[in-house]
Amino acid sequence: MKFELPKLNYSFSALEPYIDKKTMEVHYLKHHQGYIDKLNLIIDKDTSLTGVTAEYMLTHLDTVNPETRDGIANFAGGHVNHSFFWKIMTPEKTSPGEKTVKIIKDRWLSLEQFTEEFIKKALGVFGSGWTWLTVLNNQFEIMSTANQNSPLTLGQTPILGVDVWEHAYYLKYQNRREEYLRAWWNVVDWKMVETHLTDLERGPP
Ligand code: MN
Repeated sequence: MKFELPKLNYSFSALEPYIDKKTMEVHYLKHHQGYIDKLNLIIDKDTSLTGVTAEYMLTHLDTVNPETRDGIANFAGGHVNHSFFWKIMTPEKTSPGEKTVKIIKDRWLSLEQFTEEFIKKALGVFGSGWTWLTVLNNQFEIMSTANQNSPLTLGQTPILGVDVWEHAYYLKYQNRREEYLRAWWNVVDWKMVETHLTDLERGPP
């Protein structure tokens, strides 16, 4: 079973003007597809990974063959991170649900303080990486990972995440990462954030 691009639930232009059509097109069709192609090349060669989900590879990265481990971190990570990213965005106007409001108020006092801290964390990513809201043992945290490293490898469950690689914003925002990060909240799918929190209560599948 080869890994494939997940279906996008909206058109390339749907997140305009916050995320432009060209960026979406290149990001999804070229960058994400590129991670998938490289991941498929690795699993073609390393039969110990046959039938293993990309999520399992990342949560059990220490058990992957040392020769393929970096490739899995990069390409299974790239695949899983981007699949998550497309789903956490929507052209619909949404607002934080009940569970989301509660965890944000408990830890960050207000949505504004939460978003400011999140943006600050994302501005602090040197080079390429991601910034996340994650949870581990009921502890919510804003954290960043370098390159395509997944929070799953750290035992963390991602609730929300933003791609801060330049390829995610350079065509429209050039070096203005902060402008991209501020615009991005307009397309965050708070319903999906709430769903992730609901899934936590249900426990692992
Ligand atoms: Mn990306």
